[in-house]
Amino acid sequence: KTKERNVRTLLKERLPEHHFELLTMAGELGNRLNVAVYVVGGFVRDLLLGRKNLDLDLVVEGDGIAFAYKLAHQLGGRVRQHKKFKTAIIIYINAAGEEERLDVATARLEYYEQPASLPTVELSSIKMDLYRRDFTINALAIQLSHDNFGKLIDFFGAQKDIRDKLIRVLHSLSFVEDPTRILRAIRFETRFEFTIGPQTTKLIKNALHLKLITKLSGTRIFHELQLIFNEVSPYQSLLRMQEFAVLEAIHPSLKLTPAKSHLLKEIEKVLEWYRMLYTKPYPEAWIIYLLGLTSASKQEEVESVLERLHLTASQHNEFMTLRSTVKSTINLLGKIRPEAFSQLYKMLSPIPLEGVLYMMARTKSETVKKNISHYLAYLRNTTLDISGEDLQLLGFPPGPAYGEVLRKTLFAKLDDKVNTRQEQLDFAYRMLKARQ
Ligand code: ATP
Repeated sequence: KTKERNVRTLLKERLPEHHFELLTMAGELGNRLNVAVYVVGGFVRDLLLGRKNLDLDLVVEGDGIAFAYKLAHQLGGRVRQHKKFKTAIIIYINAAGEEERLDVATARLEYYEQPASLPTVELSSIKMDLYRRDFTINALAIQLSHDNFGKLIDFFGAQKDIRDKLIRVLHSLSFVEDPTRILRAIRFETRFEFTIGPQTTKLIKNALHLKLITKLSGTRIFHELQLIFNEVSPYQSLLRMQEFAVLEAIHPSLKLTPAKSHLLKEIEKVLEWYRMLYTKPYPEAWIIYLLGLTSASKQEEVESVLERLHLTASQHNEFMTLRSTVKSTINLLGKIRPEAFSQLYKMLSPIPLEGVLYMMARTKSETVKKNISHYLAYLRNTTLDISGEDLQLLGFPPGPAYGEVLRKTLFAKLDDKVNTRQEQLDFAYRMLKARQ
């Protein structure tokens, strides 16, 4: 039997002070209102794993919405409530002056119908709430109220699964209830370097055999895929999806081939490289991975993939445009003379960052890679030291020529022909003079 565990000290050590105080405050409010309060889910999992996570999800055994309003009042925040689901979000400004959100849910008392003539069992509502969750490691809670501050609630053996590094569902119908959990299992497995347990593996295979993925809406699949692409190592998850034949279950065109698999690995490396060097703008990873996953497909197939994933009309159109731009640009990039930086700039600057990064992953030419890297590091941020105002001061009337002259001056700067402000002024002057 697992013995009771209190994680108060762990909370105290790991959390920023104001988060610890917030949990204390929530517990004390629970005591006053006589409702039990818990912090649940990913926060508790990450606390035990020693990973940073400050997303607090509270569950209240009682009226969660009333609780949220009282807590928000104490925090000087406001509440957004969702009556139907009896949930609320508290939005407040923390001690550091940043906006924070706090989810509050209501655990309803439910009656669990037993088959045949057995009596109906009343489960504690927190247990029922946790039982509805996806995996054991996500079904932990910490009690905050009733002199039990810090008491770890583990009904389903999550602590053991964390020790054994296992992803396990809570019951055998879990994937039938919600097949997106297949993608979630793979995502958590990769993120934590855990393994999907043997029984859970069988249940996933069974769910795929029953073609449950085909019943899922495109929107839900797309959302889960995006979450996978935003992780640190999507490639590993994609390999696992291939092992389970999940990719082809989503759409036959998504099936991996050795060439595609190589490309996806390159995409991961390029994104890792980019994130190390630049913080913004941040590329949308799904666009790049989806370009990779559909790289060998015909246009109609790609469109059918996008329809399956239920992209919005603008996402759909932008994706298809990007795909054809990238196709036509990638060959041209290989033909650029060395140091023809303005030419490189003209080619790359109209293309969204996702397309540029995709081409970097796609190309086999070291020269092209170097060129793209140079574009990202220098060329794309190059600006002139003169503006339209300067041209006016030179005595030329404002007009459409301004834009073109400034553009050409920028190209000259990119090619290292005009570096100083004076050189740029002279260059622009000569050009405007010649046009008169
Ligand atoms: P992350 O670190 O990726 O945010 P998280 O565990 O906090 O992970 P959320 O997607 O924010 O994940 O979900 C919060 C909680 O809701 C999870 O811990 C899980 O218990 C539950 N949950 C989310 N999606 C599902 C689902 N499809 N089925 C069952 N429970 C789910």
